[in-house]
Amino acid sequence: MEGRGDHSQWFEIDAGALRHNLRVFRGILSPGTKIAAVVKANAYGHGLAEVAPLAGTAADWLAVHTADEARRVRRLGIRSPILIMGFIARGELHDLDADVHVFVSTLEVVRWLGEYRRSSGISLPIHLKIDTGTKRQGLDRSSIAGVCRDAAREGLSIVGIATHFANIEDTLEHEFARHQLELFGDAIAALRGELGGDVTHVHAACSAASLLFRETDFNLARIGISMYGHWPSRETRLTWILDHGRDGVKLQPALSWRTVIGQLQRVSAGETVGYGRTWRALRPTLLAVLPVGYADGYPRALGNRARVLAGGRPVPVVGRVCMNMMMVDVTDLPGASVGDEVVLLGRQGDSAVTAEELAELAGTINYEFLARLSPTVPRFVVGDRSEAPAT
Ligand SMILES: *Cc1c(COP(=O)(O)O)cnc(C)c1O
Repeated sequence: MEGRGDHSQWFEIDAGALRHNLRVFRGILSPGTKIAAVVKANAYGHGLAEVAPLAGTAADWLAVHTADEARRVRRLGIRSPILIMGFIARGELHDLDADVHVFVSTLEVVRWLGEYRRSSGISLPIHLKIDTGTKRQGLDRSSIAGVCRDAAREGLSIVGIATHFANIEDTLEHEFARHQLELFGDAIAALRGELGGDVTHVHAACSAASLLFRETDFNLARIGISMYGHWPSRETRLTWILDHGRDGVKLQPALSWRTVIGQLQRVSAGETVGYGRTWRALRPTLLAVLPVGYADGYPRALGNRARVLAGGRPVPVVGRVCMNMMMVDVTDLPGASVGDEVVLLGRQGDSAVTAEELAELAGTINYEFLARLSPTVPRFVVGDRSEAPAT
């Protein structure tokens, strides 16, 4: 593959898996519900530059957190509508085109969007972000009328309304999500009243909501983690199985993480390995030193806990994970050599290491594990690119 021999570690992003996962959502979502592919946090660690072109053709919208991410998407030549979901500082409103939509959850942002309109002539369409109980970001229903007045005064259009669920992934009891949905319904009605007509874009769903509840579809769904091939949580998967009596949705993880054996080390019985001397050899041991560490996103908490795949089978990480290196025990792997490929995440032979497994061992969730993958590790898009646009 192009260039991978030049690197001591790399990620492979499976284009076919991303397409498959988006197709799964096309199949589940109500007809007419569009998909916003969420590519914030460097596309959940997968690489914005690698994922956005594909998501730009396979999904209807791209959703980002910051104005800067929106500009990066445009610099990649992608012309899809973009939704900025996060906070915007006044100075971040520049070089944005009229197909960049903005979540508005404070009156200040309305004022700044007005200033941007006056200075640039570009009116960024507004989606009101309604807080229905997550208490993170959003307006409450009582402020809708005021925001509508302010937006009109600034010459801005409100084209959408959105909310975000608090605990849909965390529980098998979805009472609170239903309560949030009810409040959202009230807010939609209030906005319709203010606008004297329908709201063009209405959206509430993240991956978990889209997997579980058709009543959260409205006309747009914001799909993040599951586009990358991951269930939002064990509870979401269990709810699906309880509702359907089977495990019907097959998501395909899109990212694998590969490296090579950098050095082999012979360790005598009784010697210790690594910082803090936390692992002691009980037998003559052959160690492989891998050029990957916590600076690359491999959690330090995985020292003495996780396994990697070498020679098609799992081998244990021994000692602490260092900033840029880690050690694995390859004593039972005949013929291990410098330069052999090692899989930190993904499949090799009949074995697999999942993001869920590593996240759990590190005391976190798949989202955090993926989002913290270093942007500096080279990424290669592999797999089915047949549906890629002719450029
Ligand atoms: C990140 C995010 C999403 C996507 O959530 P997933 O669980 O990854 O699908 C949707 N909406 C908002 C507002 C978000 O911040």
